[in-house]
Parts: sequence; structure tokens; C-alpha cells
Amino acid sequence: DQSCVVIGASHAGVNFAFVLRREGWQGSITLIDIDPILPYHRPPLSKAYLTSEDGIEKNLLKSEESYKKENIELKLGVWVDAIDRENKKVVLADGTTLDYDKLVIATGARPIMPPIPGLDTAKNLFPLRSAADVANIRKTVVENEALKVVVIGGGYIGLETAASLKKLGASVTVLERESRILARVTAPEMSVFFQKLHADNDVAVLTEKNVISIENNQNKNTVVCSDGTRYEADMIVVGVGIHVNKELAEKAGLMIENGIQVNEMAQTSDPSIYAIGDCTFHHNIHYNRHIRLESVQNAVDQAKIAAAAIAGKECCYNAIPWFWSDQYDVKLQMVGLSEGYDEVVVREEADKPNCFSVWYFKGDTLLSVDAVNNAKAYVYGTKFIKGGEKIDKKKLSDPTAEFKPANL
Ligand code: FAD
Repeated sequence: DQSCVVIGASHAGVNFAFVLRREGWQGSITLIDIDPILPYHRPPLSKAYLTSEDGIEKNLLKSEESYKKENIELKLGVWVDAIDRENKKVVLADGTTLDYDKLVIATGARPIMPPIPGLDTAKNLFPLRSAADVANIRKTVVENEALKVVVIGGGYIGLETAASLKKLGASVTVLERESRILARVTAPEMSVFFQKLHADNDVAVLTEKNVISIENNQNKNTVVCSDGTRYEADMIVVGVGIHVNKELAEKAGLMIENGIQVNEMAQTSDPSIYAIGDCTFHHNIHYNRHIRLESVQNAVDQAKIAAAAIAGKECCYNAIPWFWSDQYDVKLQMVGLSEGYDEVVVREEADKPNCFSVWYFKGDTLLSVDAVNNAKAYVYGTKFIKGGEKIDKKKLSDPTAEFKPANL
């Protein structure tokens, strides 16, 4: 019987394993992950899960029984050290090996810990990527009343964490190096909206704050910025981006760019090895360029494609990226990729405060839509991007004008 080994048991790896079974794979499927607990959903970690008292059992990707039922073997708390392509084996940290006929790399990413002097010895310093990180953060908040928290990084994870920690009663300051939050991913209009949202909720979001050192005196952290400002912190959460876990693939000699390079079937430069999820650098047909995405949807889509390809089906990855973020009572949904836009059209909705959308264009081509509390704009935006229909920008910007795709 053939064997399929999957390195990384998170959104990509777990979805892949179940779809591969559904596709009729009769051989063994082994999922390996260094995280010692049953695989869980990551997005809620900075959102509802951080503020709730639910244990991780309420947040699992699949129940323990489901793995047994589908005859999917889980090796948890196990690190993969190397891939031996010549002998088709993976080498585990204890030196033992596992044979594979098909190998799937779903190693995702890990948080960047910037080389800031004093960061490594700071008290109560946490990244936010795993359930263990959340457990540490929650414990610190619960054990210390009126905790002062500094969040380094004003991206989605930093901002969601700030909103959740505020809800738990902490006093929160976000320090962002750029001149506006979410600068890498959204238009200034969105940055302004989220900046105000946090201010309204009594969270200080400060921009142009380049953290240069952390001082630790009598167990208290002081976060020091290049402009001379200093912020006391009982706890520090770092959310400044991720490193792709591509080293295994790199050492094995697979093609690497800004991630593990895969084709439209999620196959790497070795035909027996596939890569899926956050760790991949793949071609997007709608934007005609190679990209790396950090999103659950991409992990799940690529998992399906890899499973179908291994099962011998004709398939081709052709998804439009989408993503979401929850902060306070605001739900943001994003579809498409805004990079390279030259014009933004904002659409307010008549009589609906805090409900609007930002449409990103390059010339007449719609690239992406950010929809704030506005599921309709998100759905319409998706249809417009897929359909390539020309958009009347005047109508789009008029809240009183009816605006929807022709085929709806
Ligand atoms: P990962 O989830 O990173 O999993 C990779 C796994 O591989 C890990 O469990 C790791 O332990 C394991 N691994 C790596 N190397 C080895 C090795 N050598 N040996 C053994 N195991 C190994 N996305 C959204 O779309 N919407 C959101 O709202 C959203 N919110 C998020 C909030 C937070 C706090 C975080 C952290 C992420 C969020 N994301 C969100 C991103 C989303 O979680 C990721 O895109 C998704 O988890 C990617 O899945 P993956 O399986 O590719 O990689």
C-alpha cells in the first residue's frame, strides 16, 4: 500500500488529509506536527477564543474520533528534521524515519521575533500563533489586575489582540512603526477607520513608533522607541509578521522563492512532493503573478487541489484570495489583492452607519474590495472580480444609487 506523509497538521495539513481520504486514497495517511495538542482553528486565537473561557476542545479542526474513523494517523509533539528525497523518507527529531510515496509539506509559518535589544529577556513577552501562546497570555491577564499591555505591531493580529485584551480588562497600547496602521494591506481610508475604532474603545494606537529596546527594571518592562518615548508594560505581545517555515524544503533542495514554489496543482519541483498553505509561493491566475498568502481559505483551497492531484484528478488552483478580521463589533471582509492599485472608491451605504466598503482599482480593473460590516459588498465584489464586468464608479460612490453585478 502507498503511504502519504504530511508535515504540519494545521488548516492545510488536516484539510488535505480528510479530502485525500474522500478522494479514495486507500493507503496510509500520517500527519506530523510539533504542536502536542489536537489541531485547532487559528483565527479565533486573537479573536473570540482569546476572550472566552472555552478550552481548546471547543476550537478543534476535527474531533479525535474523526481521525480514527478516517484512519488518519496523528503524530503530535513530533518534529521533522529532514526530508531524504533520494530514499523517500522523512527523518524525525529522534532519528527514526518514515517512508513516503507522496509527501505534503504544510509547515506554515512562525512569528518573527525582531532583534530588539532586551526583547529576549523581557517579562511576559509573547507572540500569538499557537494555543499555548494564548494560554500564556490569558493566564497573565487573569492573574494581574489592570494589566498594562504593549502590542508591538499594528497589523491584523496586533489589532485583533489589542481589541480582545481590552475586552478582558487590560489597558492596551499598540505601537506601529509605519505612519499608519495596516499600511501594507489597506488604503489610508481603512487605516483611519480602524485608528478611530480603537480610539473610541480606549485603546491607544500610536504610529511612527519604532521600538528600539526593551528595558527591564525590577520585573517591569519599559518599551523604548526611537523618538525617545517610553511605555511601561507588564506584558508585551509581538505581532510584526511571520517567517515562512521553508527550511526543510530548502535543505532538501526544492525550489524556493518567497516560500516553497508550487505549480497550479500544488506540486513542488519534486513530483512526489506537494506543498500547501502559508508556506507556499504559488501562481494566482486572476492576478497573473506569484504570491504567498497567509489565509485559511488559501490553506483549504490548496489542500483540496493537492488531494485531487494525488488522487489522479485533473485540477487547477484558481481561487480569488479572501480574508477576514474581527475587531470589537466590526467585521471586515476582504476579497482580492489590492497591491498595485491606483484609485480607491469608497461606497457608504445610505442610513447604515459603520457599514461601508473600499474598492481598489487599477485603471478600470477592480483588484479588491474591503467590506466593513457589509457582507453584500463582499459578495458583490467577489462577483465583479470573477466576472471582470466593467464598474460604473460614479454609481458605486453614490450611496443612494442601486449598485450590483449584472447577473444578480
Ligand atoms: P500553520 O497554521 O502555520 O500550520 C503549520 C503547522 O506546521 C504548525 O502547526 C507547525 O507546528 C507545524 N510544523 C512546522 N514545521 C514543522 C516541522 N519541521 N515538524 C513538525 N511540525 C512542523 N487567516 C484568515 O484567513 N483569517 C483570519 O481571521 C486569520 N486570523 C489569524 C489570527 C491569528 C492569531 C493567526 C496566528 C493567524 C490567523 N490567520 C487568519 C492566518 C491563518 O491562521 C493561517 O493562514 C493558517 O493557519 C495557515 O495554515 P497552514 O496549515 O498553512 O499553516
